[in-house]
Amino acid sequence: MAIYDVIIIGGGIAGLAAAASLKGKVLLIERAKQPYKNIACAEWVPRNFPAKPVQFTNEMLTIYPSGEVTSKFPGKIIDRESFQTTLLNELDCSIHLGENVKGIENDIVITNKSKYQANWIIGADGPQSILSKDLGFTRRNNLIATNFRVKLKKPTEKTTVIFSPEIEMGYGWCFPKGDLANIGVGVKRNIKKAIAFIFNYLRTQGTISEGFISQSAGLIPLDGLLNPIKGNKILVGDAGGFIDPVTGAGIAYAWDTGKLAASLINGKISRQEFSNNINVSYLKFLNRRKEKRKIFEEEWSNINKAVKKSWIAFSRE
Ligand SMILES: Cc1cc2nc3c(=O)[nH]c(=O)nc-3n(C[C@H](O)[C@H](O)[C@H](O)COP(=O)(O)OP(=O)(O)OC[C@H]3O[C@@H](n4cnc5c(N)ncnc54)[C@H](O)[C@@H]3O)c2cc1C
Repeated sequence: MAIYDVIIIGGGIAGLAAAASLKGKVLLIERAKQPYKNIACAEWVPRNFPAKPVQFTNEMLTIYPSGEVTSKFPGKIIDRESFQTTLLNELDCSIHLGENVKGIENDIVITNKSKYQANWIIGADGPQSILSKDLGFTRRNNLIATNFRVKLKKPTEKTTVIFSPEIEMGYGWCFPKGDLANIGVGVKRNIKKAIAFIFNYLRTQGTISEGFISQSAGLIPLDGLLNPIKGNKILVGDAGGFIDPVTGAGIAYAWDTGKLAASLINGKISRQEFSNNINVSYLKFLNRRKEKRKIFEEEWSNINKAVKKSWIAFSRE
């Protein structure tokens, strides 16, 4: 059996960030044969995220049944397919594409093709992480989300977020990407109704053209932060719950936590420093956001109140 210093499960943002920083004999296992085609994502990141912008965003228009509000929302829209493909091509480690991790037994990673042993295992395998199940996190609470790439009628630097009873316990978005836009919905149920609503709304407003270029779907974890380290196993990105349960933003956290795991394994920081970093940078913030998400769901029958009590346009905390 091949033995590695580190095995990374999942070649998304978090897995790539870890792989790019790790020293030693590293294996990255990614189940997709041709990854990064049509990633389910609105592709918004903060300005300081290390990827080339397709365009910048300045404001966010939040629309809810009883009104609308415009707030500052500086950021940028990136192209994840080209960003992640470039990162993958630049990696200096073993990469197994089209290989699915089926289970983990102690320090052995079992795939549909083989078995490998590792001193460290990083779970960068997204919302349905197999490593998180191995660490005991069996019940995961997710939002079902879908993103469409469409043609925008007029370029804009404004992102739009829409709350409506038609988008059940979630929200819809229209994020500009040059001449195109990422539009979509994240819901707890009745996704077809929500999709019909968002298309109808944006067409009626004259924002988007007829039809769509592509569609993709994914999950947004709502559980909040899981304990990300146990023995020689570390969860990063969505796998560890490093995602804002209010906004669904997780790209920057995935990047940072992938790097953080690499720092620990490379011996640059101690376990204590790793845990301190998680506590200071994520724990309090993500717990507060989880609380906001709870309020949003509890108040849903009065959607205006739910939005005002939880959405970032009304309170950044
Ligand atoms: C519709 C939608 C819109 C979003 N919009 C935004 C946004 O605008 N901004 C933002 O910040 N966040 C957004 N997010 C969240 C963001 O996409 C995630 O937080 C981010 O992708 C997390 O990166 P990750 O590397 O942890 O996981 P992922 O990107 O999910 O990568 C996990 C990788 O692991 C692989 N994998 C999974 N299981 C296995 C296995 N068993 N064996 C081998 N490989 C495996 C998968 O194929 C995948 O490549 C959105 C999410 C959705 C669903």
